[in-house]
Amino acid sequence: LATLFLDRIEASDLNAFLHVDRALTLAQAQAADARLAGNEAGPLTGIPIAHKDIFVTRNWRTTAGSRMLQDYVSPFDATVVEQFNAAGTVTLGKLNCDEFAMGSSNENSFYGPVKNPWDKTAIPGGSSGGSAAAVAARLAPAATATDTGGSIRQPASLCGVTGIKPTYGSVSRYGMIAFASSLDQGGPIAKTAEDCGLLLNAMTGFDERDSTSLQRPKEDFTRSLNQSLQGLRIGVPKEFFGAGLAADVEAAVRGALAEFEKLGATLVDISLPKTELSIPVYYVIAPAEASSNLSRFDGVRYGHRAADYKDLADMYKKSRAEGFGEEVKRRILVGSYVLSHGYYDAYYLQAQKIRRLIAQDFQSALAGPDRQCDVIMGPVSPTVAWDLGDKADDPVANYLADIFTLSTSLAGLPGMSIPCGFGQGEKNGKRPVGLQIIGNYFDEARLLNVAHQFQ
Ligand code: GLN
Repeated sequence: LATLFLDRIEASDLNAFLHVDRALTLAQAQAADARLAGNEAGPLTGIPIAHKDIFVTRNWRTTAGSRMLQDYVSPFDATVVEQFNAAGTVTLGKLNCDEFAMGSSNENSFYGPVKNPWDKTAIPGGSSGGSAAAVAARLAPAATATDTGGSIRQPASLCGVTGIKPTYGSVSRYGMIAFASSLDQGGPIAKTAEDCGLLLNAMTGFDERDSTSLQRPKEDFTRSLNQSLQGLRIGVPKEFFGAGLAADVEAAVRGALAEFEKLGATLVDISLPKTELSIPVYYVIAPAEASSNLSRFDGVRYGHRAADYKDLADMYKKSRAEGFGEEVKRRILVGSYVLSHGYYDAYYLQAQKIRRLIAQDFQSALAGPDRQCDVIMGPVSPTVAWDLGDKADDPVANYLADIFTLSTSLAGLPGMSIPCGFGQGEKNGKRPVGLQIIGNYFDEARLLNVAHQFQ
């Protein structure tokens, strides 16, 4: 299996992988073979997997898509990587992504954009574009990814694969290079909901090295895959179907909703009135946290160091100027601004208050005695994958494309994307559409059940 996928990776021109090392992979595969022969195998033993280049790995370089970490090799494995190694998976290599996971199109990677396997003139989505494209092109049966404001769900949607961002705190952030710590959450991208369940079984669990890791009993995320959907109440938020939603995406999503009705579910009109505010709120909070997290990349503690400099301050300045790309610099500037004295109350504190209200919107739909629905459904992305280069110089256009994924992240809720049809690309036709399924905290098993019944 490992050889099959390594050969495909070598023959591929998608730019999905940043670092592949055949010898390392084959050594892991041999160890897995020994476990299989010795009857010590679990469900993932010998299964090839690729890791987003934001999870640090001892044997493969970890760049986070940045020039800053071009030659960085971590002295330890991220918890997620450790967990998969313990489960016996075989690492195929490291996957391209937007620099420090900032982006929606994978065009912010220092190592160049990934191409969408459905249409190589299209973006794969971001920031986990390499993860989604690799799974879609069958270069890997499974991949890890991270979602801060949509980076698992949106690329999964645009590449026609399945991805789930679990409840915040379920997957350890230890060794996951930090972007916005109160939002960052790891999760899997794979072909099906069933595969995602098996992967979640391996990658969740308490980790004392992550201060926001949740202490919860281990659960089997595949336990309810085969439950009937009879009586399931699906909330359909009107704010997810307003102006700005492309007609082809709306048609595919509504088609999926009709299928769920046939499976016994009922559609309930609901409202998440603060949806629109999720963009300004997220683009204050995420850069604020990023500006702090990225201060460690100073050419001393971590990262690229400029060759010539006058003094210490000049060294910091030049190293960071050379090491970071445009979008990362933009976020550091915005983040430092909203956290600075005199602006903190007006921007950061205000954003935190609205974040709470956004979370309350979801709770009034999904929780309490007056709850209206069991899950929420809608589009993941307002359009299908756009053409490479189309929005590359327009950060705000990229931010606006996150409208349907940000609120779930701000609330810390689990959300997933499953393929539900195709829309029309501008050039070569067929581009995938994803359906978003959102649940209440710790309702991942239900989301996977709902997705599995549809798939
Ligand atoms: N597109 C969003 C951003 O640029 C989300 C990225 C993510 O989830 N890592 O911040």
